[in-house]
Amino acid sequence: MSNDPLEIDKIISLIPGNVYWKNRDGYYLGCNDACAKCLGFSSSKEIVGKTIYDILDNKFHDFAEKIHMNDNEIMENNTPRVLEEKGPDAQGKVASYLTKKTPLHDEFGNVIGLLGVSIDFSSWKNVEAELLYQINQSEKNREITNTYLSNMLANLPENFYWVDRDSNVLGCNENQAKFFGLKSSKELIGKSIYDVAKLIGKDKVDADKIRQNDIEVMETRKTTKFEEEIEINGETKTFISFKNPLIDHNDEVIGVFGVTVDITERKNAEKALIEALKKAEAANIAKSNFIRNMSHDLRTPFGGILGFASHLEYIEDNPDKKEKLGYIKQSCEKLLSLINEIINLTSIETGEQLIQFEQTNIQEVINDINVLMTAQLRYKNLEFNSNVHNNLSAAISVDKTRLHRILLNLVSNAIKFTAKGSVSIEAFLSEIDTENKQATLNIHITDTGIGIPEDKLDVIFDRFTRLTNSYESNYEGTGLGLYIVKQLIKECGGSITVESKLNCGSKFICKIPCKLI
Ligand code: ADP
Repeated sequence: MSNDPLEIDKIISLIPGNVYWKNRDGYYLGCNDACAKCLGFSSSKEIVGKTIYDILDNKFHDFAEKIHMNDNEIMENNTPRVLEEKGPDAQGKVASYLTKKTPLHDEFGNVIGLLGVSIDFSSWKNVEAELLYQINQSEKNREITNTYLSNMLANLPENFYWVDRDSNVLGCNENQAKFFGLKSSKELIGKSIYDVAKLIGKDKVDADKIRQNDIEVMETRKTTKFEEEIEINGETKTFISFKNPLIDHNDEVIGVFGVTVDITERKNAEKALIEALKKAEAANIAKSNFIRNMSHDLRTPFGGILGFASHLEYIEDNPDKKEKLGYIKQSCEKLLSLINEIINLTSIETGEQLIQFEQTNIQEVINDINVLMTAQLRYKNLEFNSNVHNNLSAAISVDKTRLHRILLNLVSNAIKFTAKGSVSIEAFLSEIDTENKQATLNIHITDTGIGIPEDKLDVIFDRFTRLTNSYESNYEGTGLGLYIVKQLIKECGGSITVESKLNCGSKFICKIPCKLI
């Protein structure tokens, strides 16, 4: 390397940061341009012969003091050091410098000054400060969160606990500790499931069961619900326990987290409700039995009255008396039909009649209905149509008696509520399952009568519901027919719906499961 001072100057000016050298007493002997600029001079020559006290503004006196002390220490100890120092930057703002100070020697090895190289690392310092701040904040936040969480957990109303893979308690909330008769949750930590079972008077068998539940949850990795009854102070309590697998960040199951809820009150209310329901059902059956017995008892004397009224009407010659006897007969007939419907209804409500599948030809059933209704159809001059699809040409197996009663009711309603036009029956099979020999019997009963308002389509199936009263219309009835039909279809496992348009007619759609023969 050449000794040419210009060249050394050039090299020094290329070094990033501030380079300066001072004598033993702290007077600057030289520096690079960057250093001169940073200290507020336009050229490095202006700095020569000045101390740091001369250069720095009075407000930076403390920084000057520190720099001077550092210089002296390095020269006295004759050891280079890297230091952090503060001083102004080129804009006069406080900056942090990372400085390496090295002692300078004469030819005899005596310290005659020092060489300093400083880099402004304020921006790094700021990043570091920001980082430290963030770390501090997150530490604080974590502490706050932890405090909140532990407080929340400790005071949550139900019972919480968490155990390790061997079902040893790792922690729980205060409620859980109280439940076991302990003063604090700390007393439960470390106890095995067998120690815990003992606390509530349970034996090893019970503890084994609880342990087995824990193992199941850990193996299946699924939240599982267990219901158990425990006797505490002579009172049987019912608990529902939700056990969840505890899984760590390596996806390993490390234990079980459990939540136990006391559902004793709910369970007792449920039991009371079932009891009340049973009593209500028994009372309903008793009531139905009573009505049926009474109806049977009424039917016999009414039969007698009807018989004698008919006989007297037949033998009476006086037209006035004959007419009155006819009224008595008609009234008896109406009363008898009402009693018969009530007997039907009660036998359905007491669930007496078992479903009896029997070989049935649908066309024949429809023909029977037609024969029974011929007089009424003729009287009202109504057409009767039947359409049995090909897939129903063979006999099927259904409860024929119930089917007969269903169709009789629906067809007689259709005739009753139709003044002119027709009543039709269409029957076909759907959902045919030849393998299992099952299908659905569909029967549609359509009329061209008065129709049913849309908002009444549902209520007509309720007990004693009639859209017109006997006393204000031509249509007589009890309001029981459709209720009975719906119950009969329900007993067969089927359904009934209705489509209707006011003054155009109605269509009752029955779907009844049947067997193929
Ligand atoms: P009832 O015919 O004895 O009054 P139902 O339970 O059989 O009792 O019918 C209930 C009500 O539903 C009837 O009073 C009538 O208002 C209405 N209804 C039933 N079938 C028809 C129909 N085919 N067309 C119009 N209205 C009907």
